[in-house]
Amino acid sequence: MEIKKIAVLGAGSMGGGIAQVAAQAGFDVILSDIDRVFVDRAIGRIDSFLSKSVEKGKMSAEQKDAVIGRIIPTTGMDLFVDADLVIEAIIEDLEMKKEAFSKMDQVCKPETYLTTNTSSMSITMIAAITKRPDKVAGMHFFNPAPIMRLVEVIRGYYTSNETVQVVSEVAAKMGKTTVEVKKDSPGFIVNRVFMAHLIESMRLVEEGVATMEDIDTAIKLGLNYPMGPFELQDFAGVEITHHVANYFCEEFKDMRWNSPQILKDLVRAGRLGRKTGAGFYDYNDKK
Ligand code: NAD
Repeated sequence: MEIKKIAVLGAGSMGGGIAQVAAQAGFDVILSDIDRVFVDRAIGRIDSFLSKSVEKGKMSAEQKDAVIGRIIPTTGMDLFVDADLVIEAIIEDLEMKKEAFSKMDQVCKPETYLTTNTSSMSITMIAAITKRPDKVAGMHFFNPAPIMRLVEVIRGYYTSNETVQVVSEVAAKMGKTTVEVKKDSPGFIVNRVFMAHLIESMRLVEEGVATMEDIDTAIKLGLNYPMGPFELQDFAGVEITHHVANYFCEEFKDMRWNSPQILKDLVRAGRLGRKTGAGFYDYNDKK
């Protein structure tokens, strides 16, 4: 089946970016959230991103309008009925994802592929709620989706070879390089390796070995990473690290993945990073 129409569920940081790359690749896109205001905000972000491309001469104003015109804003899942592939990008909560997949499974055609952009959660557990676990896979984009070049394609227990192939082809059409994660394991490749680095950075602060600022500088200059661990968590959303740490702890039954206290405190205080004006750093006074 040729994939023509892609539905994206969740119009937050990731869903909006994914909708943009899908529309830029020529797919018809349905972008849905619980409230229309979130979808309109996502389309506003896409508009300002593409306007910069127009200013730089990378795209014409007509091309920009055509990309935005391919995105149908909506709430709920009624329009998913003729989607060929769904990319779920709602918050990182297993019960909410299961509920969303159960509904999608009822609404979508039997041949529709259902994918999740989860950063760490079990594809097998999400797929098990549906009657088509062979057509469910992880399709893990990185933040910001229009810029980051990687997509991890993750197999759940029952994911078919055909599903892996179709999802990989769609990602390639979006200009992404794919890697196949052959087994459903918490954090897949990138986040398994990356979480160890984030947790150790926070422990260094708690142990008084170095400041956040110096750790960010050290990692950027010493490892040539574009962002340090604290800047990056503020950019991505501090609560994501917390959710993933809790999940790893539970899955691996290993306290080395336990959320450091510094991280728990930020989440409890609602300091979730740039989007709330403060996280590890304060953005309100431009510090
Ligand atoms: P976000 O909080 O920015 O956006 C989530 C959106 O989903 C919100 O707009 C929310 O209103 C909406 N939503 C919640 N429940 C919904 C439902 N039942 N139906 C429709 N919409 C619903 O989150 P995000 O950062 O975009 O992350 C989304 C997913 O992508 C998560 O699974 C996350 O782990 C994963 N992810 C995030 C990043 C990142 O760096 N932010 C990177 C890769 C993957």
